[in-house]
Amino acid sequence: MTRIAILGSTGSIGTSALSVVDTHADRLQVVALAAGNNVHAFAQQVRKYRPRVVAMAAPEGLHALKQSCDLPASAASGPEGLVAVATCAEADIVLCASSGTAALEAVLEAIACGKTIALANKEVLVMAGGLVMEAARRKGVAVLPVDSEHNAIHQCLHGRQPGEVRRLILTASGGPFRGRTRDSLRNVTAADALKHPTWQMGQKITIDSATLMNKGLEVIEAHWLFGVPASRIDVVVHPQSIVHSMVELKDGSVIAQMGITDMRLPIQYAFSYPDRWDAPVPFLDLARMGALEFHEPAWDDFPCLDLAYRALDADRSLPIVLNAANEVAVASFLQGRLAFTAIPDLIARTMDAHQAGPAGTLAEVRRIDAWARERAEQSVRALQSTER
Ligand code: MG
Repeated sequence: MTRIAILGSTGSIGTSALSVVDTHADRLQVVALAAGNNVHAFAQQVRKYRPRVVAMAAPEGLHALKQSCDLPASAASGPEGLVAVATCAEADIVLCASSGTAALEAVLEAIACGKTIALANKEVLVMAGGLVMEAARRKGVAVLPVDSEHNAIHQCLHGRQPGEVRRLILTASGGPFRGRTRDSLRNVTAADALKHPTWQMGQKITIDSATLMNKGLEVIEAHWLFGVPASRIDVVVHPQSIVHSMVELKDGSVIAQMGITDMRLPIQYAFSYPDRWDAPVPFLDLARMGALEFHEPAWDDFPCLDLAYRALDADRSLPIVLNAANEVAVASFLQGRLAFTAIPDLIARTMDAHQAGPAGTLAEVRRIDAWARERAEQSVRALQSTER
């Protein structure tokens, strides 16, 4: 029996993970769950899975949860709640499926306790990839990627020596605005941007897909997971999202991982690794797919991708600033306070204002993150007042 703790159990990845648990109830058991603010959905999960540790983002949420189901002795809210779930004594694997950076401390604590990490959250690595991977290396803990592209690369690299690998090639669907010019995107709304063609996901990642920042964050994520420099990580647009990513070897062979677009596949891979279990989803029918296309990304129309490469080249603190400014920009866009095309401008402006330096401790990471959020927030307010 593999015992699972989930950070972010009511989100898109969390619910897919619980569906994998249901499919393989003879091998997987839920022991700890943390959710954001969705009391109704979380109460159903707590009743069904009877976790030994539960957590919610806010004390009010936990209070409301108590009214609708019996809670275990260990129930907490806020950052301590996330840490309690991530360090649950019975858990073998911690699935980090919450979006944003709130789970960073919890992931580090889980690593310190020797838990295997199944990582669906990319912000944690973008913000503190050096800290997380170094902690995992020291403790001998595996960080298994659940993000579909990195999961694909993990599969393609299985059993290979680093010296065999020439390039990592991440595929990108291109998002809902593929083929559009930057000028034509000035007046798009949050509702337009939330219509993703191939993946059903949470709001933050769907907007990131529309700006291509999601792919930018994934380039940084790939750098930390696989120890490959930015110059050897490429992005190719592949609208069908069937090839999840590829690895080019030095003799010119390209190894690709393919599958249907369903996050239960990479989640199950992380839960079963290094074994493989029967598919929880329909098998891929390539003949029915017909054509698979590949294109160069439209760098000028979607500047966020280039910003991510710029941040990774500078290394050190700049990826923290990129990530924090992006979170502020996406939240502001969703609130109708910022135009879609102003998202990359706001990030670039915040990066330009930052003096890059070392970020070798959690305190430094959090300080730079807070500075960048405040700075980006100021820029949003300044933009709004000039519009008025
Ligand atoms: Mg992805």
